[in-house]
Amino acid sequence: MPAPDADALQPHTPGESPVLLSLKSISKTYIIGDVSVPVLHHVDLEIYDGEFLVVVGPSGSGKSTLLNIVGGIDLPTEGSVFFQNQNISQFNEQQLTRYRRENIGFVFQFYNLVPTLTARENVIVAADISESPMSPDDALELVGLSSRVDHFPSQLSGGEQQRVAIARALVKNPELLLCDEPTGALDLTTGRMILEVLGNLNRELGKTVVIITHNSAIGQMAQRIVRIGSGTIAETNVNPHPIAAQQVTW
Ligand code: ADP
Ligand code: MG
Repeated sequence: MPAPDADALQPHTPGESPVLLSLKSISKTYIIGDVSVPVLHHVDLEIYDGEFLVVVGPSGSGKSTLLNIVGGIDLPTEGSVFFQNQNISQFNEQQLTRYRRENIGFVFQFYNLVPTLTARENVIVAADISESPMSPDDALELVGLSSRVDHFPSQLSGGEQQRVAIARALVKNPELLLCDEPTGALDLTTGRMILEVLGNLNRELGKTVVIITHNSAIGQMAQRIVRIGSGTIAETNVNPHPIAAQQVTW
């Protein structure tokens, strides 16, 4: 057995911490004109408070749809979503907006920064609409960008822009960080750096982190791995030996 790596996440058994969010028999069908596209089929999933979860599956398997339902961007066609015992699948638009604003930080493959604002200003915009934000400079420091706060996105590398995007998600002080292919546009070295930042936010701030990706290698650093295929959960595994982000390879 390899020596435990000080930089790796600790193993975590489901049930060690309370359930933060649960999906109960979620189905999702998109209707486009006369065509219905079934995407998710009776998915059950529990996300535990403080865990680092990776959901893997091939392109088109329904990962982004699942994450959007967890994050209150989209609603399921059938089934319920409970966040700390509130049924968010019955929320109206206003309640969903509030749910997202207070509880969820989103990180996407493409960083979606405002090009005419500096790194700090991009983070301030998110802090300004949030109820109990952390200081924007603290959020940027946590992602290792203190020296670049006055730079515009075009003056930053892809990895640095993604770190600004993580700071923007983090500044709201959300319970849950939802990351959709966060390393999808990055090379291996930069991707590892992003995974390391996300791992640190989980370990040091106790943030619950969910990454969805087609890249199953990322599961090596997770505490738990859920495999999704054709809109159903094929497998859920606890990772007995998470490895450090810097050791993940693909
Ligand atoms: P993944 O993230 O795993 O690649 P998605 O959740 O994005 O998968 O998509 C799953 C399926 O749902 C795909 O076939 C996709 O074309 C379809 N789909 C996703 N979003 C929509 C939408 N808004 N309208 C219609 N079909 C959609
Ligand atoms: Mg996707």
